Amino acid sequence: MKCVEAKRMVNRFVEKKLSYQELEEFLQHVSQCEDCMDELDIYYTMHKAFDMLDTGKHQNYDFRKMLDDELHAARRAVIMHRASLVLRDIFVAGLAILALLGAYFLFIH
Ligand SMILES: [Zn+2]
Repeated sequence: MKCVEAKRMVNRFVEKKLSYQELEEFLQHVSQCEDCMDELDIYYTMHKAFDMLDTGKHQNYDFRKMLDDELHAARRAVIMHRASLVLRDIFVAGLAILALLGAYFLFIH
């Protein structure tokens, strides 16, 4: 992913609107690109600050930690999503094998 694409995704990341595919590529990029990470940090801080003004919640001002927590959660979400796709494939393969075994015993025996 190029910086220009990553920077275009920053606001959608903060608003949690990226698809899993986009999220994975975005996380990969910001983990290696200081420039885009800085941009994310600034946008995130502004977004959260306005959010807190709006809602009147002022418990947590450690925006950097909040962003780190969200990046961590997003990474986990991507991993869980991938795992669920693998499990789904295994499940579908298992059903296919059961169907084949069923057909084998029904029609051949
Ligand atoms: Zn970049």
